[in-house]
Amino acid sequence: MRTISEPAREIPVVAEADVVVCGGGPGGFSAAIAAARHGAKTILIERYGFLGGLATAGLVAPILGHTASRSSTPIVEGILREITERMHALNGAPAWEDTLSRWGIEFDAEALKIVLDEMTQEAGVQLMLHTYLADAALAGEEIAAVIVENKSGRQAVAGRVFIDATGDADIAARAGAPTTKGRAFDGRVESMGSFFHLAGFQPLSDERKRELRQQIEREMEDGRFHFYNAGFFNTCAYHKDHTSANMTRVAGDSTQAADMTRAELSVRREVWELLRYLRAHVPEFQDAYMQQTSPQVGPRESRQIVGPYRLTGEDIVAGRKFDDAVARGSWWVDIHCPLGHTYPVHLCVASCPKGEECPFWVAEFSGKREPMRRDRESLYPPQGDWYDIPYRCLLSVGVPNLLASGRCISATHEGMAGARVMGTCIAIGQAAGTAAALALAENLPLAGIHVQKLQQMLREDGQLV
Ligand SMILES: Cc1cc2nc3c(=O)[nH]c(=O)nc-3n(C[C@H](O)[C@H](O)[C@H](O)COP(=O)(O)OP(=O)(O)OC[C@H]3O[C@@H](n4cnc5c(N)ncnc54)[C@H](O)[C@@H]3O)c2cc1C
Repeated sequence: MRTISEPAREIPVVAEADVVVCGGGPGGFSAAIAAARHGAKTILIERYGFLGGLATAGLVAPILGHTASRSSTPIVEGILREITERMHALNGAPAWEDTLSRWGIEFDAEALKIVLDEMTQEAGVQLMLHTYLADAALAGEEIAAVIVENKSGRQAVAGRVFIDATGDADIAARAGAPTTKGRAFDGRVESMGSFFHLAGFQPLSDERKRELRQQIEREMEDGRFHFYNAGFFNTCAYHKDHTSANMTRVAGDSTQAADMTRAELSVRREVWELLRYLRAHVPEFQDAYMQQTSPQVGPRESRQIVGPYRLTGEDIVAGRKFDDAVARGSWWVDIHCPLGHTYPVHLCVASCPKGEECPFWVAEFSGKREPMRRDRESLYPPQGDWYDIPYRCLLSVGVPNLLASGRCISATHEGMAGARVMGTCIAIGQAAGTAAALALAENLPLAGIHVQKLQQMLREDGQLV
């Protein structure tokens, strides 16, 4: 590849904080709020003009992982519960108690944006929006500053503890900390996808919805659409005057701009093809319109930092508990086909009719290249149970003052397939921010904090650990 030299230059240190969080998604906003509430001067850097990560920029809904496996017992509260209650007060989410009997927390992404603005401001978090993390500057083994780009130019933000909540472990990668990516044997990651909202259609009976689902499934079988399910009338968001569908699927690596570009074009083309089809062939959708496509296509998996422990698929299905637990998860080993296979394929490890034909069909937990069919049931934690997220999954083995939060924690392909959901990411973020503040208050390295003290602080803040 042709290269050019970029001349070295002096850049201004525009801000300095105890805790610098990069990425304002579920793993980031919760970390920033928790750190600031515990007295740490905290800066939150986010590339978009709003917080929420895929919950807002991906229109992803509902928030999963708030109750124990297939049960209504809460396992995540703390900041997640507070956010839900605040959205409820804005008619943007159900009451907390009502969410417990549901598989996820439905919400209005616009309500989430304003709630997060208010909560970060009340906590005293300094926000840097429209700011992209470009690099990390090291002093010895530690990160001294992150280098950012925005309309003001190239700038540095100095800090003592850095929390990587970019989803893609961008800080870790830029700082040279070890990271892993994807399946153990070929590095392929779960496929990406995006949500879209359709509006302007006539009400549909359950019977009619069934008929239409079958009609779309037939079109998918004939190769007209490449969706992985036919649920175009799903309403995962809180308000029901529009659909909120999660049907698209594209294989690719979100750390590659070319893959992201291809994915954006592909999902927009597909959902517009669906809308054109519905207008032409389904009378109730004659006047339907695309209310919005998500601002970005959603990556499910990319880089993971490497910590002293990696969460595994075995931990999930066993409902494993750890002495250094700082968060709880209950979502199952939900792997979306890394090759991007679509209907009738949903998952690459369960119920996959293409399994035997797939060259990459493997024994998921052994990592061997041998066919092995697992049924979906065996990929869940035991009913009514959960798995712990150990504090060691948030640490970096390479950079002592770096923590990971959200989906880029230390985990295998199978482990992160469960821990990546938003309820779990918010719980991890609360733990990361609290741990950072604790380490700074006690003048201890991140790896040397008293985890029992951290657990106590989390409990006092309403979290279930
Ligand atoms: C199609 C799809 C469907 C899903 N369905 C569900 C579901 O139904 N329920 C559920 O709970 N979860 C679901 N998930 C998973 C969930 O949305 C994510 O795993 C979760 O949002 C991860 O949170 P995060 O904070 O780690 O990362 P993200 O939500 O990706 O947030 C990362 C943030 O960092 C910012 N950022 C990234 N890089 C930089 C940079 N270099 N500089 C500045 N800012 C940066 C981004 O703009 C973003 O705000 C789904 C995911 C996808 C893709």
